Amino acid sequence: MELLKEISKPGKRGYSLPECDVPGEIKDFIPERFLRKEPPPLPEVSEVEVVRHFVRLSNMNYHIDLGMYPLGSCTMKYNPKINEDVSRFPGFAFIHPFTPEEYVQGALRLMYELKEYLKEISGMDEVSLQPVAGAHGELTGMLLVKAYHEHKKNKKSKVMVPDSAHGTNPASCALVGYDVIQVNSGEDGILHPEEIERVMDDEVACIMITNPNTLGLFETHIKEIADIMHRHDALVYMDGANLNALLGISRPGDFGVDIVHFNLHKTFSTPHGGGGPGGGGVGVKEFLKDFLPVPLIEKDGDKYRFRWDVPHTIGKVATFYGNFGVMVKAYTYIRMLGGKGLREVAEQAIINANYLCHHLKDTYELPYPGPCMHEFVLSGDRQKKHGVRTLDIAKRLLDHGYHAPTIYFPLIVHEALMIEPTETEPLSSLDGFIDVMKKIAKEAEENPERLKNAPEKTPVRRLDEARAARELDTGW
Ligand SMILES: *Cc1c(COP(=O)(O)O)cnc(C)c1O
Repeated sequence: MELLKEISKPGKRGYSLPECDVPGEIKDFIPERFLRKEPPPLPEVSEVEVVRHFVRLSNMNYHIDLGMYPLGSCTMKYNPKINEDVSRFPGFAFIHPFTPEEYVQGALRLMYELKEYLKEISGMDEVSLQPVAGAHGELTGMLLVKAYHEHKKNKKSKVMVPDSAHGTNPASCALVGYDVIQVNSGEDGILHPEEIERVMDDEVACIMITNPNTLGLFETHIKEIADIMHRHDALVYMDGANLNALLGISRPGDFGVDIVHFNLHKTFSTPHGGGGPGGGGVGVKEFLKDFLPVPLIEKDGDKYRFRWDVPHTIGKVATFYGNFGVMVKAYTYIRMLGGKGLREVAEQAIINANYLCHHLKDTYELPYPGPCMHEFVLSGDRQKKHGVRTLDIAKRLLDHGYHAPTIYFPLIVHEALMIEPTETEPLSSLDGFIDVMKKIAKEAEENPERLKNAPEKTPVRRLDEARAARELDTGW
């Protein structure tokens, strides 16, 4: 396939404009020192060429509108198209962030109501919508933990992170200057209060827990663990990336969590992967409200406004108010489903994952037996005996028209295959996935050499996944 710059021919245009009727030259309006000496080296192509180029590219890509995307932890659910329509309403899409509050009451109302829904869903007392990704929510949360302890003059230096945690968790702690101490999950894949007690001391600022955890298991001892933390004036941070499994069923605020982030783009459906945009709002309990980023949003009579006088605020964590378009999508999603619908999301996500798990657990190893929540983690250890790695299995799935699951995470499972079907997959695609996974297991026994060369049918074969980053092609 040709690149745009290869299709390019000097002078080709996708449009034509009339002569400019503004008298004078460009340098009369823009100081000459800001003007380019040379035009930028952009490809010159006609409209039909550019459209065909991008349609061809999109056909080479795999996406959620094409098929199942069982990428564990990422919640690649189908994103309802109405979200896109609503977020493109001119009244939302074209607001300037400096527009006075009185002219953007609708947008403020949407943000206010979204945070009220998130409060109700999570059982927290106040929410900031400002962080723009899950990892950014974690950083904000850790800044809140730090601000809380500094305010109370507590001497704290460490944060506990379980061995099954997402890589962003220890990274966020380290960014704020905390030492990370690992706590091990038990044989059953969940945390136990004895292990927490074993590493607990007065220097611990917080524990960061993902619930359900990255093995897709509910942390059933969460309340006891929270009690241990609180006895030492340490806080409980919940990574809420897996909240789609809890919607309408249980609430972090009811099981001892002090701070939680939402991945609006995961749980509440915004297309993600490939770099955003995302929404990583943070919910806190009453005693942490005064530390939240500014501005907060409040309602006064029938007027909505920003509140800047938050006494111990950590300041701003993003320009303006966060990714508003993602908020519109999350709001639309919540309003379309309602409370009952949201609970069905969680139930269906759990049923779909258990259905897959049940049908695959005799073909692949299941190190932590379920029932699972919205996802589960298989091991490719059995296939490895034939010389086939999990990476090979993932690559072969592409030949069969399925996106690969998350692989080699969480780190505590050998040759991990982390599978999250989400609630939006119909039975036919779940059954198709089961068939293909069984076919691949059979191929691993019968023809491992061929499997190691997968994929065969994709536009590109096996890539050196690090080379593009190591050897930047700055071509033109
Ligand atoms: C996705 C994810 C994150 C990070 O969220 P981003 O929005 O990608 O920054 C953190 N923890 C877990 C468990 C996740 O699945």
